[in-house]
Amino acid sequence: MLNRQGRPTSITPLADEPAVAGAAGSERPPASAAGPAAAAPGTRRTFTGNRALAQEEPLLFEIGRPEVTGVDIEEPEPFELRLGGLERKAPIGLPGLSEPETMRHFVRLSQANYGIDTGLFPLGSCTMKHNARLNERMARLPGFADIHPLQPVSTVQGALELMSELARYLTTLTGMPAVALQPKAGAHGELLGMMAIKAAIAARGEGETRTTVLVPDSAHGTNPATAALLGFKVKPVPAREDGWVHLADVKPLLGPDVAAIMLTNPNTCGLFEPRAAEIAEVIHAAGGYFYCDGANFNAIVGKARPGDLGVDAMHINLHKTFSTPHGGGGPGAGPVVLSERLAAFAPVPFVRREGDGFRLVEDAGSPDAVGRITAFHGQMGMFVRALAYMLSHGSDGMRQASEDAVLNANYVRACLSDLMSLPFGDKPCMHEVLFDDSWLKETGVTTLDFAKAMIDEGYHPMTMYFPLVVHGAMLVEPTESESKASLDLFVATLRDLAMAARRGEAERFTGAPYLAPRRRLDETRAARQPVLRWTPPAPIPAQQAE
Ligand SMILES: *Cc1c(COP(=O)(O)O)cnc(C)c1O
Repeated sequence: MLNRQGRPTSITPLADEPAVAGAAGSERPPASAAGPAAAAPGTRRTFTGNRALAQEEPLLFEIGRPEVTGVDIEEPEPFELRLGGLERKAPIGLPGLSEPETMRHFVRLSQANYGIDTGLFPLGSCTMKHNARLNERMARLPGFADIHPLQPVSTVQGALELMSELARYLTTLTGMPAVALQPKAGAHGELLGMMAIKAAIAARGEGETRTTVLVPDSAHGTNPATAALLGFKVKPVPAREDGWVHLADVKPLLGPDVAAIMLTNPNTCGLFEPRAAEIAEVIHAAGGYFYCDGANFNAIVGKARPGDLGVDAMHINLHKTFSTPHGGGGPGAGPVVLSERLAAFAPVPFVRREGDGFRLVEDAGSPDAVGRITAFHGQMGMFVRALAYMLSHGSDGMRQASEDAVLNANYVRACLSDLMSLPFGDKPCMHEVLFDDSWLKETGVTTLDFAKAMIDEGYHPMTMYFPLVVHGAMLVEPTESESKASLDLFVATLRDLAMAARRGEAERFTGAPYLAPRRRLDETRAARQPVLRWTPPAPIPAQQAE
């Protein structure tokens, strides 16, 4: 096999190196005692545990010493204790480091993160796009960054104007009359949107009877979870071979018990739902509401308006569609746009322009409204970044971003379709392309193995095993941020991997990643039984230490 410089590479598993399986990844592979000479290139252990310049970084508690500090703190003046005997009797024992050690510790930790600033991040359904530094600059302006939500309204007029302007952009782009900015993520937005629907139904006096929510099988797990959390019964709309939700499958489920349908559009299979408007019609005719999961709005900004498709409520993930960092990089923000019928149920507080200024409305004016869903107004820093993104792109730029996101996904689809299988045939996708694992049959390689081998190549894996309606799903979302050169290298890498899998080089995959500081971790155990507390290692018994 050839690498991208055209030199042969040899990646073979190291027989004596077991995969490290540890909760929360706190176990480091031990430094080799026998010396690295026998190991295959690329897989051998090093004395330090470092992988070239990818450096291991122990916990602060492991390297810090209580007697060391990076700062000089003066002895306090003599003072009288006022703690009534509750003061600490022994030293606090916090670990200290010198200034350079402190710097190295945190810089190395920051380098352990893979982010969109490091490389292509093809995680489908997540829209990991470039977050321009201009947005960061704006978010750090003291007029936005250093204010407090309890300041008098007269002193934060600029911040309120920004929220009002963001609301205007969101309602314009979606064709919806109202927006609630407060929700702190997509899932929180779903909760608010469904709370508004529940409140509207209760106000109609149908709270006792309309208790069912329809959710297609392909939905993100947050959709049924949201409905269930609010006490709704979830009825699945079965998946079809073509990846679309069909009117014929929705109609028989409709009745006086149905409160809403939660439909994702573009959907999690990477496809636009062509019957969305018709589905809206039949759900409305049956007395229900149309909740749209708008997490994939990035594919259609400036091209289609959810309001025109009959949507009643839709959350927008600012952190997906309008840049703003997410994942390890920052919090999300999930504003919800609402139709005329639901606007009266919006939460407080919201911003209203009055005369020359802006006011915070704290009273919804209706006893049926959902009230307050967060302490204050939502993620102000994300509002600033999102509006900066919108203003710097302009309406034509936002439309082009959507077009390029779709073009990039289709480029990846076309470049790989001869090697990897597409579950929904050759139809064009939106901003993400979904492969299944039928092409891996009889190779001994699974979707997980393939994803792990991508790590050896320096790529964050795509989304795996989601959506659930496709076996061994691999959901690739390049976003509009990637250049053709970047996509070409990504495609060439996936082609190289795909051909290796087809040639029967299963060992390149089944033990991967070989080159990462950590091999395969027990991710389930790490999530279920996270080790959140450091305990000092037990002292080594005397005869063993010798
Ligand atoms: C990301 C996503 C969500 C949830 O959004 P969060 O901001 O992560 O809470 C819901 N639905 C879909 C389709 C998504 O992609």
